[in-house]
Amino acid sequence: MQALYPGSFDPLTLGHLDVIERAAHVFDQLVVAVLRNPSKNPCFSVEERLGQIRSATEHLSNVEVAAFDGLTVEFAQACGAGVILRGLRALSDFEYELQIAHTNKSLAPQLETLFIATATANSFLSSSVVKEVARFGGSVGHMVPTGVAEDLARLFNQSSRDRS
Ligand code: ADP
Repeated sequence: MQALYPGSFDPLTLGHLDVIERAAHVFDQLVVAVLRNPSKNPCFSVEERLGQIRSATEHLSNVEVAAFDGLTVEFAQACGAGVILRGLRALSDFEYELQIAHTNKSLAPQLETLFIATATANSFLSSSVVKEVARFGGSVGHMVPTGVAEDLARLFNQSSRDRS
């Protein structure tokens, strides 16, 4: 069975990576897909995010990385996935995720949405918190893969130099 794990991943955190590693054990094939959504005003380009995910998942032979735009259900069908995978951190994620899952079910009844509950240690992690900490020079080494920490340091050092 093939699954699709869609998201913004701006940037990839250890929470996302935990979901990916666990899903890679459950499914034969996992496609991690970055949504091209310029309206979210991302920090990292889609190509940068694809690179970050590729290098963090090099050890997982059944994980592929791709970008997509348009409807998630259409992309899932195009890549042959029967499952859309999402992560759940806390109750606060649930309402939004349930709404999306019902919407996707109404659009493509043959697709299932499955959720992986985050490891407790990652339950506070989000891409936006990571960016906020990195922006103010805080250490994010325990929140993101090494390559992402380096990209964040480069990005925010650069922008603080540009401002001065
Ligand atoms: P989106 O913009 O689609 O919500 P995100 O990159 O923020 O994209 O998240 C992608 C998926 O990963 C979502 O299902 C989200 O709930 C889940 N997720 C985000 N952070 C974590 C975490 N720390 N642990 C587990 N799942 C997470």
